Amino acid sequence: MTFSGQVALVTGAGNGIGRATAQAFAAEGLKVVVSDVDVAGGEGTVALIREAGGDATFIRCDVTRDAEVQALMAGVVEAYGRLDYAFNNAGIEIEKGRVAEGNEAEFDAIMNVNVKGVWLCMKYELPLIMAQGGGAIVNTASVAGLGAAPKMSIYAASKHAVIGLTKSAAIEYAKKKIRVNAVCPAVIDTDMYRRAHEADPTKANFVAAMHPVGRIGKVEEIAAAVMYLCSDNAAFTTGHSLAVDGGSTAI
Ligand code: NAD
Repeated sequence: MTFSGQVALVTGAGNGIGRATAQAFAAEGLKVVVSDVDVAGGEGTVALIREAGGDATFIRCDVTRDAEVQALMAGVVEAYGRLDYAFNNAGIEIEKGRVAEGNEAEFDAIMNVNVKGVWLCMKYELPLIMAQGGGAIVNTASVAGLGAAPKMSIYAASKHAVIGLTKSAAIEYAKKKIRVNAVCPAVIDTDMYRRAHEADPTKANFVAAMHPVGRIGKVEEIAAAVMYLCSDNAAFTTGHSLAVDGGSTAI
């Protein structure tokens, strides 16, 4: 990989997939801006990176707020002077029921973080990445962005929207040397997964069996896919939605 001395921004980096990816960027020699609404989580990620000899800075940001996203980008420039890669990963999943059981507040909350958050981040990242000649963006969608997700219809709609944003931005910025791709995880062992299943832990075997490989995924496996999509190995890949799913979308 060809990352040394470059700068990456990761949102939702205080926990789970975002934390693992921030650690992976740092391990490849990038300077990493760790961002999250969860201050303790974000500072924890920075501490882990620094303990391992890496360079990271935490900037708190709620990705649903335009002014905070603008301040985040100003913070990136202040800390490291440039932006090469962005992993727009902050997301929430709070639904418990079918379409007729959902409510407006859930809809607005999920769309705000998962769709508006990705759009706002790209809006302010793209000029920064363009200013120094190119780079790459990866957005976190989901296998729920590629097909149906029963009892998670709003989440599924939000992740389909992330793929629409990704494809459109990829076309718009292809000639500006910015590649824009999405990663589509199946079920990954994070707090989000554990929260969704805490009511019925006996579902764990059922959830594992939904994946042909017979298990759920690890955060490091998503981080590896993000690193690939950002690397020069993926120089001819843009507008793509990469399923990292233990075979679940091949069924
Ligand atoms: P997680 O809950 O462990 O981490 C999500 C992070 O996003 C948290 O640190 C949280 O504080 C942060 N966040 C939430 N709202 C925010 C906001 N408004 N502004 C900034 N940060 C905010 O979950 P995870 O499993 O690591 O999820 C990361 C991404 O992966 C999400 O987009 C999620 O939808 C997606 N995803 C997860 C799974 C899975 O099974 N875990 C599967 C497919 C996709």
